[in-house]
Amino acid sequence: MSQVKLFNTLTRSKETIEPLQAGHVRIYSCGPTVYNFVHVGNLRTFLWGDLLRRYLQWKKFKVTQVMNLTDVDDRIIRKAQEQGVDLDTFTEPFVQAFFEDIDTLRIRRADIYPRATRHIPEMLDLVDKLSRSGHTYLTEGSTYYRIGTFPKYGKLSGVEVDRSSEFSRVDSDTDDKQDARDFVLWKARKEGEQFWDSPLGAGRPGWHLECSAMSMKYLGETFDIHTGAVDLIFPHHENEIAQSEGATGKPFVKYWVHGEHLNVDERKMSKSLGNIHTLRELLEGGYSPLQIRYALLSVPYRTKLNFSLQSLDDARHALERLESFVIRLGEAGNGDETGEQAGSPLSDAFLNEFENAMDDDLNTARALAALFVLIRDGNVALDAGNLAPAEARSILAVIRNVDGVLDILPQKDADLDGEIEQLIAARNEARKKRDFGESDRLRDVLLSKGIILEDTAQGTRWRRA
Ligand code: AMP
Ligand code: ZN
Repeated sequence: MSQVKLFNTLTRSKETIEPLQAGHVRIYSCGPTVYNFVHVGNLRTFLWGDLLRRYLQWKKFKVTQVMNLTDVDDRIIRKAQEQGVDLDTFTEPFVQAFFEDIDTLRIRRADIYPRATRHIPEMLDLVDKLSRSGHTYLTEGSTYYRIGTFPKYGKLSGVEVDRSSEFSRVDSDTDDKQDARDFVLWKARKEGEQFWDSPLGAGRPGWHLECSAMSMKYLGETFDIHTGAVDLIFPHHENEIAQSEGATGKPFVKYWVHGEHLNVDERKMSKSLGNIHTLRELLEGGYSPLQIRYALLSVPYRTKLNFSLQSLDDARHALERLESFVIRLGEAGNGDETGEQAGSPLSDAFLNEFENAMDDDLNTARALAALFVLIRDGNVALDAGNLAPAEARSILAVIRNVDGVLDILPQKDADLDGEIEQLIAARNEARKKRDFGESDRLRDVLLSKGIILEDTAQGTRWRRA
């Protein structure tokens, strides 16, 4: 069996994933800042984070995945203040919306979602360790990390420590620091802002601190994979390394995995550029979650993806082809998926190519291309009457198998909808023939499935009880 390879930003090469603890991969993924609805750019990143986990599980690894919720930062504090509410009251609806949105896109939930505001003691503890080893200084009530004390600074991003102009650009709000390159660990309290009392003085944590403190709390001082989009490489992940390795003296993360952005007209989709689409907007526009999921998955995570409504239409066609192939296979297998299976050269070749593609840094474009070769060849065999029921079943089984990773087949719910429509059609037939006994029987069958019918002038409508 071939092995999973991922591109490691730290070594700038594709590496075979060998977890520190045999058979168990520990992943930390930078999560959302909960001050707004997430946009499909954010969702692209969360989606491949889940794809990575699912694929590692498919390869028989145990996986533990942690994702933080950033529920305190400048923007959150400002907005909560504007609305006159505390941070929790302000962020709670966006936390809920985030979970709803990832569920809608079939992004499986991580094992733990630690929140920054619930881990202040762990963050203070980390700053304490850094202070005792001489990595920090205090200015005007704020505590800073002195980059000059960490010679490996820059090893992830390749940023040159001497060219301080790069630094002053990214962290310009922290104006009291001694060196433009330094970053804030603990910010002094500002008038009217929510704060925490601490041995460092009244204040609140800097953004980078939470990810070091929470990842090490839940995954250990050294763990396997850290994910995020490329905008986080510098300064966020560089600073995480400085904080964690500065405090423990141990390597922090073995594989740094970064995904490319979702762009709009070649520019990053972002709230500040005002070019975002939220999932909710797209659903209101009549696009389905599966279409969006498919469009995001169809481009490998390290390739820039330009967002367009056209790509969603293309996704719909691809999904329709897949769905009708699955229906055809079901019929060719006599509607009995649990029946006998006979290996098929088509399904073997597909499975092999799927695995090779995914092992190669999660090449989803190649994996989906293989799926469509299977669909094309399978349809040719079906047209020619060349597919035995047992063979059709094994192809279907292989599709369902990889769908554990891709999750692009219609859900059972949708299947149920089809069945309901059929029962309603049969009942309408019976009513036309004035066979009210049969019509009532079918109404009861539907009721037993939790479906309530309403006969209107426009036809029969149904809803779930
Ligand atoms: P934020 O809510 O801004 O903290 O971002 C949450 C995650 O989404 C981070 O991993 C970001 O790097 C990522 N992200 C932000 N914008 C995009 C984008 N346009 N495409 C892909 N990922 C993004
Ligand atoms: Zn982070």
